[in-house]
Amino acid sequence: RAKEDQGSSYHFYAEEMNKQALERQIIERDLKIAIPNGELEVYYQPKLDVKNNRVAGMEALVRWNHPERGFMPPGLFIPVAERSPLIVLIGDWVLREACRQVRRWQAEGLGDLKVAVNVSAVQLKENCMVTNVRQVLLETGLAPHLLELEITESAVMDDVEHTISVLENLRDLGVSLSIDDFGTGYSSLNYLKRFPVKRIKIDKAFVDEIIDETSEGVIARAVVTMGHSFGMEITAEGVEEEFQHEFLSKLGCDEIQGYLFGRPMQAADFKTFVKDKTAEQLAAE
Ligand code: C2E
Ligand code: MG
Ligand code: MG
Ligand code: MG
Repeated sequence: RAKEDQGSSYHFYAEEMNKQALERQIIERDLKIAIPNGELEVYYQPKLDVKNNRVAGMEALVRWNHPERGFMPPGLFIPVAERSPLIVLIGDWVLREACRQVRRWQAEGLGDLKVAVNVSAVQLKENCMVTNVRQVLLETGLAPHLLELEITESAVMDDVEHTISVLENLRDLGVSLSIDDFGTGYSSLNYLKRFPVKRIKIDKAFVDEIIDETSEGVIARAVVTMGHSFGMEITAEGVEEEFQHEFLSKLGCDEIQGYLFGRPMQAADFKTFVKDKTAEQLAAE
């Protein structure tokens, strides 16, 4: 009897694994043609400069409009892409598109906006990473200081010595670097000090711990203090509530990003967003 049960649960398990493997294969197959078919799109989420209440810049977030399945969130296809060379193609495409877009906005009089692009651990390991970034900057004519690369904490802590040398080469191009999802991985403070990184992004999980006006927000507080003492700036992710904004602002957090200030949006909507914010700012002065 027990044996039978085991057998069937194994069977179920195997079937489930097959399903997942198949799903991955389908996503990978469709993703290969997504770029040439123009199915990928970059959305932009604004970041607020806490001190002067202005748009500090934005994060580029990739979206996939699948012809049959409709909208596919990056959480569903980026991990699949990371298991193949596709992530390098997608990463390059997003980088180029985001840099071009900022140049278009400059030409349209929106000013010098700073754009942050996510970099996968796989890209960081590729030899061509630094060359590609340099190439895109040359091609688009974007000033390097307007580009920020976001690298997750788990990616930077993997193969630290190699990562440090790549990050140094990227920094030497003049781009700025930030550690994404900070607090969810396992950082060694000793290494953190050696990373040529300008900014830490506090993961949403720790912003979520600020549940009301009286919250202690212990981890958020600790990260701001530690980051500042390392000479880094701090961005808080996933800020949804005004009391979180206030709390983080009192801590001296430099930037906030989240639905409270603005959701990720299409380029055209982002342009309107920035224009409206600038007009509001002028009216307030
Ligand atoms: P991430 O880089 O940490 O980006 C922040 C994520 O939090 C985004 O999810 C954003 O839409 C979401 N978010 C921002 N504010 C709020 C908020 O107030 N509430 C909530 N609930 N969510 C908020 P998204 O766009 O689904 O992206 C998920 C992840 O996919 C990103 O996390 C990043 O790791 C990855 N990703 C997105 N685009 C790219 C890309 O071009 N390249 C690579 N390698 N990864 C990407
Ligand atoms: Mg990010
Ligand atoms: Mg993040
Ligand atoms: Mg994240």
